[in-house]
Amino acid sequence: MPVGPVGRDESSAPFFDASARGEFLIRRCQTCASASEPQATTCASCSGIDLVWEPACGRARLVSWAVTYNVDEEHPTVLAIAELEEGPWWWSQIADADPEALDVDMALHIEFDRSGDSESVPIFRIASDHRKSDEATRR
Ligand SMILES: [Zn+2]
Repeated sequence: MPVGPVGRDESSAPFFDASARGEFLIRRCQTCASASEPQATTCASCSGIDLVWEPACGRARLVSWAVTYNVDEEHPTVLAIAELEEGPWWWSQIADADPEALDVDMALHIEFDRSGDSESVPIFRIASDHRKSDEATRR
């Protein structure tokens, strides 16, 4: 299922400009150095308002997900919440994911999807080195 269409406004323009370049921006607090999600207007830790844009590394861990099966589409749609390596949570689709293979804490990385007239939108993909460090001991 394509993401979007997603449009911008004045406050989201820097985020979508970066997405078009292949960068995922988060908000970094200049008071306490905590990271907040892109749409934050105040710091999630100290409620400070002096936030600057900063590129995230693009790595994340799967927190939770939901699967939607569409009869007219080859693959189900997986909507996920993931924790960015910097700390904030983000939600989007996981591209080409097998719902049976998903696991909490699975490593994801951010890619960008652009469909039609939509802005370039961050999506997740399962990282090639997705195995959890404790997987060998669990099975
Ligand atoms: Zn802060």
